[in-house]
Amino acid sequence: MSLLRQPILLLARSERVKQLVSILPVSSGIVTSYVPGETTQSAVDATAGLADAGLHATLDFLGEDTLDAEQADATVAAYTDLLSSLAARGLTRGAEVSVKLSAIGQALPDNGHKIALENARTICRAARNAGTSVTLDMEDHTTTDSTLAILRELRKDFPETGAVLQAYLHRTEADCRALAYEGSRVRLCKGAYNEPESVAWQDKLDVDLSYVRCLKVLMAGHGYPMIATHDPRMVEIASSLASRYGRVQGSYEFQMLYGIRPEEQRRLAAAGESVRVYVPYGHEWYGYLMRRLAERPQNLTFFARSLISKS
Ligand SMILES: Cc1cc2nc3c(=O)[nH]c(=O)nc-3n(C[C@H](O)[C@H](O)[C@H](O)COP(=O)(O)OP(=O)(O)OC[C@H]3O[C@@H](n4cnc5c(N)ncnc54)[C@H](O)[C@@H]3O)c2cc1C
Repeated sequence: MSLLRQPILLLARSERVKQLVSILPVSSGIVTSYVPGETTQSAVDATAGLADAGLHATLDFLGEDTLDAEQADATVAAYTDLLSSLAARGLTRGAEVSVKLSAIGQALPDNGHKIALENARTICRAARNAGTSVTLDMEDHTTTDSTLAILRELRKDFPETGAVLQAYLHRTEADCRALAYEGSRVRLCKGAYNEPESVAWQDKLDVDLSYVRCLKVLMAGHGYPMIATHDPRMVEIASSLASRYGRVQGSYEFQMLYGIRPEEQRRLAAAGESVRVYVPYGHEWYGYLMRRLAERPQNLTFFARSLISKS
């Protein structure tokens, strides 16, 4: 992992840093390079643009760790509004939604797990009515068991619901085995949180090796792997595993984040691969932006310049 990753993630938790960064308008270059806008309209327009380029989308209404039930309800309403807007524009064949359970109540002190499950059900129902599906994002390791338990419940009524597993966690290869069954959509990513040594690999090489082991399990299995990475080596390995296990294009997909390696997204789509772009939108872009900067400290100079020009 980059030497700067942990310090940036720790700094991101400071209220003072948050106040300073949050004065940036969403239109500032550093924000728009990762987030198309704050409104439903901006998300729908970005989805339409991706569809024109032959790319699918998964949309994330930004926000996480809410301790306020009304805020959780507002997030559910934002998703239902988004889903009906996507359906009205005829975009749901190529677009689904990604949901963070902590944004819809998982972290609430009383009954958080139950509230998040009920809220997720409402979003799954709205997604099905719109002709699409939901993927549950994965957050820090303290939420993994609760998130997988909610996934199991949701899949009883909405088997199309997707899961995310993070290769940096020691447990993930076993979780991949458990989820590699027919009809199971699993997004494999490396993992974006600051996790302790007791549960997660710390060195990039170990994370990459784990990613490859997990990928093998998913590609050899009977589910639908969603390969979420910008790493050229992982993309290459995924393609050779697809040949090794006789998977045809469309029986798995590549996923990348909005604004990261857009030429590669288009190259893969032009080569016949299914490619889905994760599109985050909304006013709560701070935590998301900080995780992206932590992965790419080269962007810090650009970031500092954006801040100085605003103050
Ligand atoms: C579709 C999708 C969904 C995700 N969902 C989750 C989730 O639910 N939970 C979770 O913990 N994490 C999630 N992530 C984030 C993921 O865990 C990683 O933090 C992130 O993708 C970076 O890892 P990487 O595989 O791209 O490899 P890295 O080793 O970080 O990067 C490989 C290469 O990609 C390029 N690159 C990477 N990041 C950037 C950047 N910010 N700007 C420019 N170039 C860059 C560089 O060329 C770099 O060398 C998701 C990622 C994707 C793509």
